[in-house]
Amino acid sequence: MITFVGAGPGAEDLITVRGQRLLEKADIVIYAGSLVNPALLRVCRKDCQVCNSAEMTLEEVMEVMINGQREGKEIVRLHTGDPCLYGAVREQMDELEKRNIPYESCPGVSSFCGAASSLGAEYTLPGISQSVVITRMAGRTPVPEKESIASFAEHQATMVIFLSAGMIRELAKELLRGGYAPETPAAIVYKATWPQEKTLRCTVSTLAETAEAEHISKTALIIVGDVLDGEYERSKLYDPAFSTEFRQGKGKKEQKI
Ligand code: SAH
Repeated sequence: MITFVGAGPGAEDLITVRGQRLLEKADIVIYAGSLVNPALLRVCRKDCQVCNSAEMTLEEVMEVMINGQREGKEIVRLHTGDPCLYGAVREQMDELEKRNIPYESCPGVSSFCGAASSLGAEYTLPGISQSVVITRMAGRTPVPEKESIASFAEHQATMVIFLSAGMIRELAKELLRGGYAPETPAAIVYKATWPQEKTLRCTVSTLAETAEAEHISKTALIIVGDVLDGEYERSKLYDPAFSTEFRQGKGKKEQKI
């Protein structure tokens, strides 16, 4: 069996219990060495074959998987965060499907969740934003024109921008072009949940200088929006006057969810 496992954002103990159990019994682990914390591999068996996919092509990864499967081995493909975001997993799954090789997935804590915990942030605050846009700047991988940063910025929803720390000056320009005010709160979270983590708070207009001062050009997320520092409304769910299926509201006018 081949299992795609989310390694979590970095900290050794932020992998799921299921993911760690899979690592413990794996015969072969193929891990994304550019981003996965190697400390996670400490739980692997001594005789586990460990391959670093940062040095491999898709074809080479497939070869390890196919040969391992033929020999009846338990194989873990370990991706950073959750594999469903920028994980290049679909192409591996398709190759496996073509060969009728079964696979499963085990989710992980994405770095955008790790960054929220590092910042003590809630991305969805009543009265500010109820949506999170997860996106990136176009790099060597293009982004469809309809998904430009500026077009998303027009919504003024919370944005979490992956894979763009190396283009932060252009990113800030795009955010401003899309309509974010220069003083909109922003944050850069470098290596969220790793021991080397850095959380830097700034504004859209100071994003570039903030990253440059700390020499941050990779392994960082850029978060933008008033949820980082704005006036919000308290939740309805925990409002004393609000009734739900589980709790009868008291006082003032009651509402039903
Ligand atoms: N699947 C991963 C994302 C892989 S793309 C996930 O769910 O998190 C790689 C990008 O993710 C990096 O360029 C960076 O923008 C972001 N990233 C991954 N781990 C990070 C971390 N611990 N802290 C900040 N950003 C991180």
